[in-house]
Amino acid sequence: MKRKKSSRKYPEKDCFNPAPHEGSKFIPYDSRQIFCSAQCRINYYNDLRKQENATRYAEEPVLRRIDKQLQLLYKRYYNGKWCNIHIGLFAHVQIDVLNYCITVTRDKTTGKQISWFYLYGVSIDPKDANFIIIHKKNTL
Ligand SMILES: [Zn+2]
Repeated sequence: MKRKKSSRKYPEKDCFNPAPHEGSKFIPYDSRQIFCSAQCRINYYNDLRKQENATRYAEEPVLRRIDKQLQLLYKRYYNGKWCNIHIGLFAHVQIDVLNYCITVTRDKTTGKQISWFYLYGVSIDPKDANFIIIHKKNTL
């Protein structure tokens, strides 16, 4: 269907895309037009998505770093049954395990909360709050 071109003139307006660009002031062909061009609208939503992704995944490097540190600690301190280490050790490796995690589950035996990263998770030792238990996911 051919759109009938109106001869009506609309006043100049500011493009909805706040990024500085040529055409940021434009004369619309339709009263509902908010972008100076189709490409400008595409640019706007691409930029918006980039921004959202940057915020959305901002913590990912931190979570990965913690998971790697937990892996090192687990390998070092696992006694064949479990791995619990003094909370002071976390300060030493500079990881803030209690303020970050991806998911939370409950330990079936202790009832305590386990904060999971990728492969590793942590919970507070029910016998001594100065100790943290490192859990490893069962991956078969
Ligand atoms: Zn524009």
